[in-house]
Amino acid sequence: MHIKTNDTVEVITGDDKGVRKKVLHIDREKGRVVVEGVNLVYKHVRRSQRNPQGGRLSKEMPVQISNVLLVCNRCNQGVRTGSRVAKDGSKERFCKKCGGSLGEIAPSKKK
Ligand SMILES: [Zn+2]
Repeated sequence: MHIKTNDTVEVITGDDKGVRKKVLHIDREKGRVVVEGVNLVYKHVRRSQRNPQGGRLSKEMPVQISNVLLVCNRCNQGVRTGSRVAKDGSKERFCKKCGGSLGEIAPSKKK
């Protein structure tokens, strides 16, 4: 899976299925991603000095990286991706559906 921060991904399972949002954070070791507004948990907060209003705070919890797909702009849907070496030697992601490039993931090693 080649997902980067700020990618737009589509959630493919769970309560947020079909939601398309931006990736905020990636935990590669755990294989989890935090997606804007997805998998929210609400925490009830008492009035305190730091939080004089009290009330509800929401926070995104990480979801399994396998539960999201990168959105291909051409296909306008979440797609499976692969990586390939471009002509100039850089590595890029591509959409397995339409074959279009989804951006560089590693610069060229050639000089
Ligand atoms: Zn595509």
